[in-house]
Amino acid sequence: MQAASKKTPYQGKSRCYGLFKCPKCNKEWESANSWANMGQKCRKCDTMVYPYQQRKLKKKKDGQVEKDKQHDVARCEKCQSLGHSCTEADNAYLETQDA
Ligand SMILES: [Zn+2]
Ligand SMILES: [Zn+2]
Repeated sequence: MQAASKKTPYQGKSRCYGLFKCPKCNKEWESANSWANMGQKCRKCDTMVYPYQQRKLKKKKDGQVEKDKQHDVARCEKCQSLGHSCTEADNAYLETQDA
């Protein structure tokens, strides 16, 4: 299947960890607030970038799931589509869970 809407490696419904690289200015960053077919804007040049790699989130010892310390709501496509921070819409794609 070749869906035109498939913009990210991960296609599930949960939050996951994404690695980003801006094709314009080569800035790289990571975010624990990454979603299927959702991008984040580059801090340098404002290009919408989709993660080139995504993985499951890890659960910390205290039971907390990893997340961005300071999630940039204004640059996150998921947050913009929700109208609030995507950290609150939390159903995490966890490493400990069965796929
Ligand atoms: Zn950039
Ligand atoms: Zn977000």
